[in-house]
Amino acid sequence: MTTAPLTPRPLDWLAVAACPDCRAPLEPIRGGATRETARCSGCARPFAPSYSGLNLLPSGIELRPNEAAPTSRRWRSKFVASIYTRHNRSPNVRRALSRVLAALDDASWGLNIGSANTRYHDRLLNLDIAESDNVDIVATADRLPFRDDALACVVSQEVFEHLPDPAAAAREVLRVLRPGGLFYFQVPFIIGFHSAPHDFWRFTHRGVEQLLSSAGFEIVEIGAAVGPGTSLYRISVEYFATLAAALATKLYFPAKALAAVICAPLRWTDFVAREYSNTNRIAAGFLAIARKPAASP
Ligand SMILES: [Zn+2]
Repeated sequence: MTTAPLTPRPLDWLAVAACPDCRAPLEPIRGGATRETARCSGCARPFAPSYSGLNLLPSGIELRPNEAAPTSRRWRSKFVASIYTRHNRSPNVRRALSRVLAALDDASWGLNIGSANTRYHDRLLNLDIAESDNVDIVATADRLPFRDDALACVVSQEVFEHLPDPAAAAREVLRVLRPGGLFYFQVPFIIGFHSAPHDFWRFTHRGVEQLLSSAGFEIVEIGAAVGPGTSLYRISVEYFATLAAALATKLYFPAKALAAVICAPLRWTDFVAREYSNTNRIAAGFLAIARKPAASP
């Protein structure tokens, strides 16, 4: 287990934060030689540091043990990230994400919900329900520890399928965005079950539109994040791994790794289908950019 203390990010973002229980502003507790933390100015609840930031979980929700992969397993995470889970690096994703991140400057903050270990921008705060090296805030998506109208943009990649109540989380994002602020939303449509720690939903492009408009957003754009080639790739890899596991359970991961390499060219056909209007029928995932209305409802 990796538990070496990190140099934590300074709490220079506290001015936009709020208590997850009562939504009052937070004030810093400067601890001399110890880590800077914070206290609620309303209910006086003190907040403890997390592994790499601050624990702003609502009362009653326990901080999970740090689940950072032990060194012996890191090769597997690296393999999965470089071969199998490349969806966050598709051309459509990079274009839409940079459009939203352009909202950030030295006077504003953004938030990445379910960031895990990414770090897209200095002013984009990383929030996750589990600790890891780059997580600034441990919190839940349905009780975002931020003030109303506080953030210039919010990013969420492949997270809402894991939330028990995605509609409540979408309303929370609307609340914390400033009027005119942008939400980058990305979810899978065709992908195998993958609990992290739960996996509840799949969204069509119409489902994405429905979720965001009923939360109160204006839709700026909706499209495929990754195309049908990636869908066929994911299904093929899972299919071969499942067949192998039927012979012997321990063959699942080796077969999956082998299939992930052999079937990789299937994803190249995403390029062919990029402009085809029926792509949405079997796209591997969707992205949306949505805006909080200037006069918020
Ligand atoms: Zn409070």
